[in-house]
Amino acid sequence: MTTATENNPLILLQNSEQMKINPKYRLLVASTSTVFGSGYLEYIIDDAIKFLKADEILFVPYARPSGATYDEYTESPKKAFGQKGIKVSGLHEFSEPKKAVQNAKAIFIGGGNTFLLLKTLYELELIDELKTAVSNGIPYMGTSAGSNICGIDIGTTNDMPIVYPPSFEALGFLPFNINPHYLDPDPNSKHKGETRETRIYEFHKFNSQPVVGLREGSRIEVEQGSAALKGPLTARIFRQGMEAVEVNDLGILKEQ
Ligand code: ASP
Repeated sequence: MTTATENNPLILLQNSEQMKINPKYRLLVASTSTVFGSGYLEYIIDDAIKFLKADEILFVPYARPSGATYDEYTESPKKAFGQKGIKVSGLHEFSEPKKAVQNAKAIFIGGGNTFLLLKTLYELELIDELKTAVSNGIPYMGTSAGSNICGIDIGTTNDMPIVYPPSFEALGFLPFNINPHYLDPDPNSKHKGETRETRIYEFHKFNSQPVVGLREGSRIEVEQGSAALKGPLTARIFRQGMEAVEVNDLGILKEQ
């Protein structure tokens, strides 16, 4: 059970019955990097550039999708942003990663395996550095695993725990959890394994933070303390002890 502590945003939920977000945060929390039928970041690149407002981006490749090396993985954002005249450097290219985070103009954490990502961030002692940078207003973009870690913890990732992070507690920029690539149950399916919805209901038997099921092509933009849902689709909101609801905006999260 996630409990409220001074550093846990959940306390805000329970004490003031409000989901407060630090007004300094500038977050672009995307369900995915790639939508069906288009290239890496193609669907979001222009909006991302407008949002990040930076001519240089620090990319964090630690989630290593499909086991890609840091260099291999960093090629993708380098190419996507490079075509638009924006320089991307991989965090692994720096001998002092903490300093690189401290000096970043914008930070982008890509998807892959969420457990591996969080474990690496803990091992390199970058959790506090990232929290400080984002609290200072440095824009942050996450896709998928990079979005999962914006939540309170990584308990609602779709990934397998292929490695052990020292904790599931994440960056906690958002006072709720994310389930990226949210997939609706297929009413005609003969598959008997759990649906995504079933798994999130199970999560709520033991954890109280809301979960935002973010479908592919959707993103949350956080600015000045408020979180806006962007993209063509609705999101699915799960709250402990309540039926899931379909929303066009995230206002409902403030109602408890
Ligand atoms: N593996 C996903 C990603 O692409 C994360 C997730 O599905 O939870 O980063």
